[in-house]
Amino acid sequence: MNGRLAELLKEKHLSIDYSASVRHVDNYAALYNCSDSPKIRAKAADRVAEIALDIKVRKIKPPPKYPLLSKLIYKFYPARNGAVAPGFKVSDSCNGCGICRRVCPRGNIETDGGKPQFGADCEICLGCLNLCPKGAIEYKLSKRMTKYKNPEIKLSELYVR
Ligand code: SF4
Ligand code: SF4
Repeated sequence: MNGRLAELLKEKHLSIDYSASVRHVDNYAALYNCSDSPKIRAKAADRVAEIALDIKVRKIKPPPKYPLLSKLIYKFYPARNGAVAPGFKVSDSCNGCGICRRVCPRGNIETDGGKPQFGADCEICLGCLNLCPKGAIEYKLSKRMTKYKNPEIKLSELYVR
């Protein structure tokens, strides 16, 4: 993904001097079980500390070349332009709390005290689905999957509205 980001920035005549990746718990509950792993979280924290040190000493490490295969896959990724309506299902267990609306990074959800209404500007981050306290939002195979919320992050830290 760093390669993709480098390409996007190049279009704006900007470049990346340093790039690094951090392995973390998968949160794509539409297809996978997103079991929490304290081990992965601890490793990620160590990696972030290493990266912080690199940045402090202004280490230069440009992103790797964007692989051709990733380029091809990304071309067909539906949310590449942030404009899809994935067709979420919302069950009657929804209590209208509005958390999904507050965490959506694209402002794509309205609730008005009731069930969420989704617009067409979704990037399929699955924040709404993973963070719904009632497990009321479903997409693809998510009904059978474990959802994920990072226990080290407060819900209020994820609110954008
Ligand atoms: S977060 Fe869940 S319970 Fe709350 S409004 Fe959204 S769908 Fe309903
Ligand atoms: S998946 Fe992400 S972008 Fe899409 S509606 Fe839910 S929170 Fe918003």
